[in-house]
Amino acid sequence: RWAGVPQAPSDKILGLSLLYTLDANPNKVDLGVGAYRDGNGSPWILPSVRMAEKILQDTESDKEYSPILGSPKFIQLVQKLLFAHDTSGFQLLADGRIVTAQGLSGTGSLRVLAEFLHRFHSNHHVKVPDPTWTNHLSIMKDSGLTTSAYRYYDQKSNALDFDGLLEDLSRSEEGTIVLLHLSCHNPTGVDSSPEQWDEIIKMLSERNLVPVVDTAYQGFQSGDPVKDLATLFKFNDAVAMGKIPTYLLSQSFAKNMGLYGERVGTLSVICSGPRESERVRSQLAKLIRPMYSSPPTHGSKLVETILGNEDIYNQWLNDVKTMCDRLDSMRLLLYDKLTVEYNSALDWEHIITQKGMFCYTGLNPRQVEKLRSTKSVYMTADGRISIAGICLKNIDYLARSIDEVTKE
Ligand code: PMP
Repeated sequence: RWAGVPQAPSDKILGLSLLYTLDANPNKVDLGVGAYRDGNGSPWILPSVRMAEKILQDTESDKEYSPILGSPKFIQLVQKLLFAHDTSGFQLLADGRIVTAQGLSGTGSLRVLAEFLHRFHSNHHVKVPDPTWTNHLSIMKDSGLTTSAYRYYDQKSNALDFDGLLEDLSRSEEGTIVLLHLSCHNPTGVDSSPEQWDEIIKMLSERNLVPVVDTAYQGFQSGDPVKDLATLFKFNDAVAMGKIPTYLLSQSFAKNMGLYGERVGTLSVICSGPRESERVRSQLAKLIRPMYSSPPTHGSKLVETILGNEDIYNQWLNDVKTMCDRLDSMRLLLYDKLTVEYNSALDWEHIITQKGMFCYTGLNPRQVEKLRSTKSVYMTADGRISIAGICLKNIDYLARSIDEVTKE
């Protein structure tokens, strides 16, 4: 019956994990994984999440379905986290201009937004940064949208190609959808400066482009989830001042609460007023109902408990800072080892200037392959390393290995 079904290519990152698992080298290092690891290289359940789990264990009274768009209390608390810290966002909320729904983490939220755009936006073309998280392309294409890339990263300088970015946006047809990473760009770790964001938003306004803002690493830029919203505040200002009519936001609790497998995140659509919001909300529900009916509840109850309890919320802020500080210290140590201890002739400054979970090392595919086959150091072919995979136990071996393959 299914003889004509061709083999699909395997997921590159998952394929890498499998090779790593099969590798018998005791010094092997996994830098492919996009999930936080603690100082011992182990997965980490956040203390704030443990506190919330305890409360839930004692108080949870049912495992009923959630409403299609998620629990109202969860939505209210997430809206408070995302939109109540700046005057414009607060006003948009108060004016009933923000529709928020729970999605299946960042991926599912993006998928719902893409389906919504396909159904209700006249322009079906999305511009994404080059490079971007590869799943962005599949999510958009599977939702019926077409994609092309805008310049983002300059391989030569290991930095943002801002002129290229702006030029490519300026050449977009009116109404083009533009995907933007709010902070800690994946895979490069390179973000725009506040002044550059002003220019990007000005261009979005001039060309009448539709921004889809993706935030999967909120808190990993500065160590503070609220501070990391500084760019979102600019979007809120632009909407409040009538410079852009809307933006769409996808947000994930996978990384900043360590709730990867719970699949909890949200999508938001900024509308012109309460009536439009009501219509958009009704259409989101109509879209979601035949897809998965309603979102999972355990993760959202955890988020609800964390955001709704002052002590646990403060613990969560500490937890995010703990993760961010560890990543920053590993960046600094790797940089120091390469430049001081191993006296590498190459410039590794970008290791410490890039932000978030990932570093785009600039290693070429040949060096990446050599690191894998001769040193058992695993990273994606584009030279992206997950800083979370580095710890005191493996950093010396890693620095030495990188130095060796880049000296040849
Ligand atoms: N956006 C970006 C840029 C990401 O890197 C990720 C996770 N790798 C996501 C969205 C979505 O992740 P999740 O579905 O696990 O929340």
